Amino acid sequence: MSINRPKGTQDIVPGNVERWHYLEDEIRKICSDYGYQEIRTPIFEATELFQRGVGETTDIVNKEMYTFEDKGKRSITLRPEGTASVCRAYVENKLYAQPQPMKLYYLGPMFRYENTQAGRFRQFHQFGVEVLGGDAPLVDAEVIHLIWEFYRRIGINNIKVHINSVGCSECRGEHRERLQEFLRDKKSDLCSDCQVRFEKNPMRILDCKNTSCQEIVANAPTTLDTLCEDCAQHFTKLQQLLSLAEIDYHINPKMVRGLDYYQKTAFEVIAEGIGAQSAICGGGRYDGLVEEIGGPTTPGIGFAMGIERILAVLENQQKDSEEETKRGVVVAALGDLAQQEGFKLASELRKAGISTVMDLMGRGLKSQMKFADRQGARYVLIIGEEELTKNIIIVRDMSLGDQTEITRDKIINFLSDKLTNSELLL
Ligand code: ATP
Ligand code: MG
Repeated sequence: MSINRPKGTQDIVPGNVERWHYLEDEIRKICSDYGYQEIRTPIFEATELFQRGVGETTDIVNKEMYTFEDKGKRSITLRPEGTASVCRAYVENKLYAQPQPMKLYYLGPMFRYENTQAGRFRQFHQFGVEVLGGDAPLVDAEVIHLIWEFYRRIGINNIKVHINSVGCSECRGEHRERLQEFLRDKKSDLCSDCQVRFEKNPMRILDCKNTSCQEIVANAPTTLDTLCEDCAQHFTKLQQLLSLAEIDYHINPKMVRGLDYYQKTAFEVIAEGIGAQSAICGGGRYDGLVEEIGGPTTPGIGFAMGIERILAVLENQQKDSEEETKRGVVVAALGDLAQQEGFKLASELRKAGISTVMDLMGRGLKSQMKFADRQGARYVLIIGEEELTKNIIIVRDMSLGDQTEITRDKIINFLSDKLTNSELLL
């Protein structure tokens, strides 16, 4: 009986993994450009961290966690998101004692027990950023700018940035009362999830995906109606900064986001053309979270974006249909002795910084040429018995389709001169 991968997971195989490398490189580059440092936390944590840090009323904690008891009878959960872990690590490693704000990013797998469908996996990957220790609107604006610039760099243009302010614990109290009052006589028409939310976290009803709930809340009071002076000012300043940076944002008073701990700024990025799972990035400010998990009072803001959904957008835009540059070198040696010489030559080329692949299966010339073509090589170096005796190498240019003979001692120089930087590596 063959064994298959678990539902909702993916193998990322050669031919596909290159697109991941590309995104990972762009992520590391932009984070470095904006002065964000990487943090790596465990893939599993104490279950309580997410119960407290994500919140008991969220879908994640209620329905989606991979939780199990380990052999030491501890309740363990595979991380469903990154923020709670980063905040825990911030407290545990006393990062608050370093110059603030702490600007961190992470990249890695997350786990949620979801109903799988296009764009919705059980193991998926997020790139996320958290800024801890800064509460100015400038911080929020920088974080949103990083997202905007990232999508620009990787060529995703059809996006909408939705922003909202969900207020702080003070103004939220008033909103909660007003909203409950508005919904009281309509409660029985809400979906079963929203009936629970009505008591526990009524604000979440505003962005329920259910269309009948959406109709019910169409004219409901939003958090923007009850913002206190401080929250209102914060939101206005954020908008000014986003306009200054020429970010095309939309205020969406119904977008409150799933996590319990959000305060003030909430935002989401929606992409066109990838179907129902169109949210490619979500985030917000969580000023109470670090305290909630036992640290000093610390403001924080962050986002997470799903890598699989970004790849779906890129595929949709057919970014990768562009002509591939040919790179590197394939050594095609024919016969035992030539193979030894080829092996030696390959080592010298690699030492000179030229990506080199050589046939390891003793194939004939024709199939070695096919192999080189599949590799996308720029040059094939052909060595047979005759070339060995003459101390030459046949160099076939795969872009132009012609070939020349170069003497063995000139080959490294010849290739170093010919290959541009972008063609050096396979
Ligand atoms: P959704 O509304 O799609 O369930 P979410 O609010 O649960 O999203 P967040 O917790 O904010 O998502 O995660 C941030 C991003 O991670 C999402 O915008 C999305 O791109 C991605 N993401 C979330 N869940 C999944 C999943 N199961 N599979 C793939 N990507 C996901
Ligand atoms: Mg979700």
